[in-house]
Amino acid sequence: MKYKAMLFDLDDTLYSGDSGLWIAIKENIYHFMIQKLGIPADEVHELRETLFKKYGTTFKGLSMSYEFEKQDYMDFVHNVPLEDYISKNVALRNMLVKYPVKKYIFTNADANHARRVTDILGVRDLFEKQIIDVLDMFPYCKPMPEAFEHVRSQTGNYKPDEIVFVDDSMPNIETAHKLGFQVVWMNRNKDGKHALYPTIQDILELPNVLPTSNGK
Ligand SMILES: [Mg+2]
Repeated sequence: MKYKAMLFDLDDTLYSGDSGLWIAIKENIYHFMIQKLGIPADEVHELRETLFKKYGTTFKGLSMSYEFEKQDYMDFVHNVPLEDYISKNVALRNMLVKYPVKKYIFTNADANHARRVTDILGVRDLFEKQIIDVLDMFPYCKPMPEAFEHVRSQTGNYKPDEIVFVDDSMPNIETAHKLGFQVVWMNRNKDGKHALYPTIQDILELPNVLPTSNGK
């Protein structure tokens, strides 16, 4: 089917979930909860899991019960030496340029992090400058349907079925699919083909499930 725009998740989608980067960010989230919010160290692990499952991001969950500057949180948790985890990906660049439509980052992280990551991967200029991040869509985040309505309004108001959405999170894919988006599930587990959704194990496999010819 033809598509007019593409929305890419950032973390664990544009680079491999095996990179270890998410673990480093998660450590920083724990430190933020302990140091900045005064949550006892022995409670942060379980609380983070609960909030993440219930709200889609720890950030959203914490913001319901604690007062803190949103950008401070983003700067704190994403303060990671990214070059230790990810590097330039020429193959990713060569693949992305073949898709003849506007490409956007749609992330539950923040735009600064997205810019840093796409800089290191060497693909920043291939995406639209406008990044739809968790602060932009606040108080919503993926997988809330409102987040998907928001992203549509920010990216040309295309109909859901004219938009391709690529993400590693199954709840995000499920919401997008329910709303009528074309979806691609980025699942690095070998056993993970899905009956309903086109599935890839590596972002470089995207052309296997989404032709770059775009319906022509
Ligand atoms: Mg992700």
